[in-house]
Amino acid sequence: MSGSADGANGADGIRGIAAGLAAHGVAAIALTWVDNAGLTRVKGVPVGRLGHAVTHGVGASPTFDAFLVDDSTLVTRYAGGPVGDLRLRPDLGRLTRLHAQPGWAWAPADRRTLAGPPHPQDARAFLRRQVRRLARRGLRCLAGFEIEWMVSPAGRDGFTAACSGPAYGMTRIVELSDYLRDIVVALTRQRVDVLQIHPEYAPGQFEVSVAAEDPVGAADTSVLVRETVRAVSARHGLRASFAPKVVAGGVGNGGHLHLSLHGDGGNLMSAGAGPCGLTSRGEAFVAGILRHLPALMALGAPSVASYLRLVPSHWAGVYACWGLENREAALRMITGPAGEPDAANIEVKCFDLAANPYLALGGVLAAALEALETLEALETLETQEGPERLEGLDVSGGAPRSAGGPCTLPEPVAGDPASLSPDELARRGVRRLPVCLAEAVRAFEADDVLRAALGDGLHDTIAAVRRGEIELFDGVEPAEIVEQVRWRY
Ligand code: GLU
Ligand code: MG
Repeated sequence: MSGSADGANGADGIRGIAAGLAAHGVAAIALTWVDNAGLTRVKGVPVGRLGHAVTHGVGASPTFDAFLVDDSTLVTRYAGGPVGDLRLRPDLGRLTRLHAQPGWAWAPADRRTLAGPPHPQDARAFLRRQVRRLARRGLRCLAGFEIEWMVSPAGRDGFTAACSGPAYGMTRIVELSDYLRDIVVALTRQRVDVLQIHPEYAPGQFEVSVAAEDPVGAADTSVLVRETVRAVSARHGLRASFAPKVVAGGVGNGGHLHLSLHGDGGNLMSAGAGPCGLTSRGEAFVAGILRHLPALMALGAPSVASYLRLVPSHWAGVYACWGLENREAALRMITGPAGEPDAANIEVKCFDLAANPYLALGGVLAAALEALETLEALETLETQEGPERLEGLDVSGGAPRSAGGPCTLPEPVAGDPASLSPDELARRGVRRLPVCLAEAVRAFEADDVLRAALGDGLHDTIAAVRRGEIELFDGVEPAEIVEQVRWRY
């Protein structure tokens, strides 16, 4: 069972839902949230406790906010330590029977304080706030995460590809035919709208992409897809890794994020007068993301291992630029096939699946909102003062027009930026994204837009967790880092 419980959240309604689950053999419900290190954590409750969980929540320690990827813990200014409690409230709108885990259901949890309101460190609440900010402007984002993983036989810690067929080869689908079918069946029964499943470039690597949905739904879906792939893998004697880098030196797993912006008139990323058909608001949306991308890397590429994946010319988008259908630009503009304007979207390629999807998506929306608000302010000024008053106004942030402004994009880049000379890159204002987590954290700590959107507590905790991970892997060789995180994500 899956679907909305709207209008049925009273005690009787919830009892009915629990009885329905039990009738389908469900014994327990997994309530998940994603921590600041990007790991999905869980508390399970028997199905008979669903009503209590909805009304009172399930206790969870605030220490989880300061967990690192290896389960060691920090005590930071705003998080960690043994004292306190918060409550996990299952979102009944997303309650789903898990097809590959008979007897189990799943629901993403909102984390509330004991008094009831959202906990200030709750990533799902942070994302929801950004969605509301868009809604107040009459705007709506649709989003979807691509999920890449590599699969190896279970029971060993080293990685051996579970199939031998070539990149994108039909051979791989033949070799792992039942496994891949079971993934599609499980996801479909769980009402995940699968668009594609295919073998990826690296040995033993596959990808699932899903339809775009509202941002909170998209982040929930990225959790559900991964846990479903993991569960189906286990049933087939296999083990799935979603780590940014699974084999040192190879191509990594990305967690590309697709986004489009919609208003009353439809998709604002097509049929506009701007570059690649963007409308002015569509352009501002992308410009805001581009402007904050170095800082956003601390949310979207949040692990030390992330930077082992971020190698030029590996389709990971390591240059802060955008380009039409350019798979080496951090932001790939997709216009879609002729006659399908709704397909237009922007793909953030530099993100991976170590990211907490709620934080990564919320951060991207906060960045985009800054540019949308600037555009709105300029438009208001123009209406009030007339366009001639704007002529002397510096909206470029000091950069030449070709390098873009606070709500306009620079020239798109065609081709691999790695093939451009340093002079040409400088002329176009194209910089390499952070090359290590420390560089991303510095940009993140200096970013007041992200700080204001996250709130001081969450912003500080994320930075502390990143610094904790940097320290954890200080002096550790890349191959050893890959070994240590391979099965954590
Ligand atoms: N696996 C690549 C990455 O690390 C992406 C391949 C693709 O473009 O789908 O992001
Ligand atoms: Mg891919």
